[in-house]
Amino acid sequence: MTTPFVFESRAQRVIFGTGALARIAEELDALGMRRALILCTPPQREQAERLAAQLGERAAGVFAGAVMHVPMEVAREARAVALRLDADCAVALGGGSTIGLGKAIALDSGLPILAVPTTYAGSEMTPIYGVTHNGLKHTGKDTRVMPRTVIYDPDLTIGLPVGLSVVSGINALAHAAEGLYAIDGNPVMRLLAEEGIAALGRALPAIHADPADGQARADALYGAWLCGQVLGGVGMALHHKLCHTLGGSFNLPHAETHTVVLPHALAYNAGAAPDAMQRIARALGADDAPRAVHELARDNGAPVALKDIGMREQDLDRACALAMENQYPNPRPLEAQALRQLLQDAFDGRPPRA
Ligand code: NAD
Repeated sequence: MTTPFVFESRAQRVIFGTGALARIAEELDALGMRRALILCTPPQREQAERLAAQLGERAAGVFAGAVMHVPMEVAREARAVALRLDADCAVALGGGSTIGLGKAIALDSGLPILAVPTTYAGSEMTPIYGVTHNGLKHTGKDTRVMPRTVIYDPDLTIGLPVGLSVVSGINALAHAAEGLYAIDGNPVMRLLAEEGIAALGRALPAIHADPADGQARADALYGAWLCGQVLGGVGMALHHKLCHTLGGSFNLPHAETHTVVLPHALAYNAGAAPDAMQRIARALGADDAPRAVHELARDNGAPVALKDIGMREQDLDRACALAMENQYPNPRPLEAQALRQLLQDAFDGRPPRA
């Protein structure tokens, strides 16, 4: 049944394919940009230096200071470096942390961004930004922060460690899963979501078996692109709220937290979102969506318990109370007792409830 919806598309150019990074110079030319500041994290400096060498005169320099949660001081420092080097754009080479830094610079200065994602987090496809100041992460939405061009080159993800690949892939899958029951969902996003989940469901076991499997790497990055569009296109619900709470207030690692929580958040919502569950299960070739996601994590070496990724049991009550505040729209109303049980199950690493 087709129900009423609103669909908004955003102008972005996407270049996808093995070896696509070779086209970066012509893509900068197409944007009218002449001097790019390349952003990366400290561990990816070498990769960024290689890119700078490839760009020659089109590279203004490398800023290798991107870190998790985009501290305001780092964004200001990167902006000052861009000014000093007379850069007219930024190339964000990396995962959500590096692309987040690019977004913070764009928000402040309007400097255009070309993103080259090397994880599956999906930030490059969203107008969502976050900057941390005095220990608090401020998030918002602004189309100015969206990268103008995105180059997806699966070759760049070959070096992403297997463990990180699996949790990052499930992080992407979470965007699509919640997009399927989003309050402002639409048929285009549902198509992207189902296809994205299917691509990741195929790719992650293959990457786990062989991290250098080029086809699997391409499938995973393709899935991440689709899931990123869903994240940028519709509102998220309980699962993302829980992960923001656990990451922000208890400093748990981003993708790992998504991986542990997702089966339980889906189980919580299953009765209220049967169509979404059917689509997720179909995409994963399974009967039961929450269980299939749990098994995808467990069977591919990912963590399934909050206790194994740094959560303390004595903080579960506070996490539950925080999750009940400023609720995101969710198909099933939030009930404190059921939510506390969800957190306990996730803490212990139990399979999701039927
Ligand atoms: P990340 O960017 O922090 O990267 C994790 C680590 O992996 C880093 O040390 C990085 O250097 C390394 N790495 C990345 N790619 C690599 C590669 N190909 N090979 C080897 N090492 C590599 O992690 P993430 O999960 O991509 O991003 C998480 C952050 O992004 C969180 O802060 C999250 O809030 C944010 N995020 C924002 C949005 C949004 O729409 N604004 C969406 C998703 C995630």
